[in-house]
Amino acid sequence: MLRGDPGAPVAGFRHDSRQVQPGDCFVALPGARTDGHLHVPAAAAAGAACALVARDVPGVPPGMALIRVPDPLLALGSAAARHRQQFPVRVAAVTGSVGKTTTKDLVWAVLSRRYRTLRNPGNLNSEVGLPLAILNGLGPEHGAAVLEMAMRGPGQIAYLASIARPEVGVVTCVAPVHLELLGTIENIARAKAELVQALPADGVAILNGDDPRVAAMAAAHPRRVVYYGKVARGTEFVALEGAEPAPPPPGGLGAQRLRVRSHAGQAQVYLPVPGEHVALDALAALAAGLVMGLSLEEAAEGLSTVDPGEFRMRLVETGGVRILDDTYNASPASVKAALAVLARSGQGRRTAILGDMFELGALAAAAHREVGQAAAAAADVLVAVGELARGYAEGAREAGLAEVHHFVDRQAALAALAGLVQPGDTVLVKGSRGMRMEEFVERLRLLF
Ligand code: ATP
Ligand code: MG
Repeated sequence: MLRGDPGAPVAGFRHDSRQVQPGDCFVALPGARTDGHLHVPAAAAAGAACALVARDVPGVPPGMALIRVPDPLLALGSAAARHRQQFPVRVAAVTGSVGKTTTKDLVWAVLSRRYRTLRNPGNLNSEVGLPLAILNGLGPEHGAAVLEMAMRGPGQIAYLASIARPEVGVVTCVAPVHLELLGTIENIARAKAELVQALPADGVAILNGDDPRVAAMAAAHPRRVVYYGKVARGTEFVALEGAEPAPPPPGGLGAQRLRVRSHAGQAQVYLPVPGEHVALDALAALAAGLVMGLSLEEAAEGLSTVDPGEFRMRLVETGGVRILDDTYNASPASVKAALAVLARSGQGRRTAILGDMFELGALAAAAHREVGQAAAAAADVLVAVGELARGYAEGAREAGLAEVHHFVDRQAALAALAGLVQPGDTVLVKGSRGMRMEEFVERLRLLF
């Protein structure tokens, strides 16, 4: 027996019973810590109309429909694929080891100049998040969508592409992230190339031409490729000729004016976010705009409207200390990019507080040492936090940095902060999620 009107559409799909609203469909998924089937009664209590389940669940009130399927995750994916097929929406997908969310949000800003555009909220990029973003977000009002696709193993991008059916695929870079899952960087490249392979014959691949492993993916899609990067390549391209600092928007960290050359002409682009890495992501967004029918000027206008508050690195000013809060996560490429922003952060002493980077497998030691060398070039003081962070300290000392502090223990590092930072400093805080580096930002706010 169904609760309410069996003909009524499901209000939304949720896999977390705490988010269920009346009329929703609850999807029982296995989790790392719990099993969604245990939470079906809670979803029912919150008003769920039905649940996708793999087995019978005791304690479900009469009136809630249990829909038994062999695999609720696959059922969620099929539902999203069918939902997407109902709309003639133009879809761009973004994958890559680093910069997916940044690029997705920049593409969204560009496409929004022309189309009502859907994007996955936040980082909903997995085989759970992407279908949910489509099912709960996509409607007849949308003209376009830009969807971030994460990769946690071979076949995943192909699966996500089979749901989203993109006509445009952006690949940002191939870097040693999640190496523990894929073993080698070549395997990572193969898995990312699944997006290019999934494009239809009239689709367009937008490839980072500066990354040889990404550029090589053109072979998977001989029809139409637009390259972006510092160097112009191919017949269709968006290239960065130069970037100058520009007046930041209120509350922003910085801004830049990009000189861009493309097959569609040249443009000056105001980008209210600092960092060369973001400038490169912005080129991909311009390329997506060109491919999806915008003029270069229109696409550039879109970039000038991005909200700097949406980007990962935040500026926190407290008691004379400028904190570049980039604590969300860390990989070698993103720490180097953040260090480059620190290096250009004008006034005062520059301090980098860097926590361990996880999931690097056998490359961990070399990667920490290399980032430590980059820190020596960018900062006056390095505070390295964690076991692997020993490599940062060694790399920085080798590269000639005089003031290097290493703490294996986070608590010891937190306790020492007061003596390491002083008013007038600009402090970058970054590390892997598991290092909870946001506590360093909180401690600095308390201290200063
Ligand atoms: P996740 O795998 O967590 O979804 P992501 O691929 O979505 O990550 P972002 O969240 O966009 O990546 O960025 C992660 C970090 O990398 C941020 O610190 C961001 O500033 C930095 N970053 C963004 N683009 C680039 C780039 N092209 N090169 C290097 N670092 C970048
Ligand atoms: Mg992301």
